[in-house]
Amino acid sequence: MATPSYPPPLAGAPAQGFATRAIHAGEAPYFREGSAGDVAAPIHLATTYARQKVAQPGRYEYVRSQNPTREALEVKLASLENARYGLAFSSGLAAETTALLALLKAGDHIVAFDDLYGGTKRLFEHVFARFGIETSYVDATSAPLAEKAVKPSTKMLWVESPTNPLMKLCDIRAMAEIARQHGLILVVDNTFLSPYFQKPLDLGADVVVHSITKYLGGHSDVLGGALLVNSDALYERLQYHQNSAGAVLPPFDAYLTLRGIKTLAVRMEQHQKNALAVARFLECHHRVSRVLYPGAESHPQHDLAKAQASGFGGVLAFDIRGTAAHAEAFLERLRLFTLAESLGGVESLIEQPSQMTHASLEKAEREKIGISDTLIRVSVGIEDPADLIADLEQALDF
Ligand SMILES: *Cc1c(COP(=O)(O)O)cnc(C)c1O
Repeated sequence: MATPSYPPPLAGAPAQGFATRAIHAGEAPYFREGSAGDVAAPIHLATTYARQKVAQPGRYEYVRSQNPTREALEVKLASLENARYGLAFSSGLAAETTALLALLKAGDHIVAFDDLYGGTKRLFEHVFARFGIETSYVDATSAPLAEKAVKPSTKMLWVESPTNPLMKLCDIRAMAEIARQHGLILVVDNTFLSPYFQKPLDLGADVVVHSITKYLGGHSDVLGGALLVNSDALYERLQYHQNSAGAVLPPFDAYLTLRGIKTLAVRMEQHQKNALAVARFLECHHRVSRVLYPGAESHPQHDLAKAQASGFGGVLAFDIRGTAAHAEAFLERLRLFTLAESLGGVESLIEQPSQMTHASLEKAEREKIGISDTLIRVSVGIEDPADLIADLEQALDF
């Protein structure tokens, strides 16, 4: 079953820009018969849909299988990632678990970037490992190292770029070439840059994963996930899993996400402007030993960042010069930055990965990949940048 596009693109019409599609894709007021002409997609709450003839289902049957609000979002997301198909789930991890990893079977192997989102790593290590699915972690900043980890049983290559929290990049085109050579599915978790700054399918990826909970929702009030693909065969299997497992995005959350995405373009621009201002401030501060932001010229992969993405996003990390106690004291002195996990909302959030987002990793494992106890991760919001810098300045005065 193909995802319908609303309204069908006009033959020969010029492709619309990103900000236009963020507002209109999936939500054209008069695409559906009987529509009241709603300018914003309505929230359809019915769990089942009537049919007129016993043997003839209508376009919708049951909410787990299809829902008009979720469908509007799936169309919008597909449009923004330059994908043919989109699927929305109840969380990023639900998309990974119930649809994507469900493509694998016992004996299959995954090659994954070593600096992966902690929840994804936990899923590989402590849930799927028990089903006989093995994962090798590689420093995918080097494409040859990633390729060396491929075995005859490897089925998936799974990367993020930039990674979390170390802001490491991988060359997505090179990863796509490795995947093509070895017949692997290349999965790119694009949560950090959002489709506004990076479109992995255009660079050769097979599947894009999103945690909607971050930039797509954008307001720290919705939990959701998504998968975007171009292949008909892959879409059919993922959609079959979505319906079979049932971890779908509820209609109200789909509505909130549709609403959030309308401002994605303007939000991402401001997140990036503020992140750059914060990075510049931190780079000059004597209490800071290093700043990790792909948009800074000091980032070792700044050129790759420019070559494969149109921007650098709003997340950065830095090391406090001092001890773990200094890092904690700094965090607890902040007044405007909220000490919290997660990222991608309009408000600035800050955290210490070793004790918060990445606490599920063993200390030795954290140290091996470079997550020290003085590392701080910031999701720079869209407040006035002068206020953000003033808050950091007073908190760094320890
Ligand atoms: C948050 C996050 C996830 C998981 O998404 P949830 O919506 O929290 O389940 C996956 N990948 C990345 C990069 C994330 O930041």
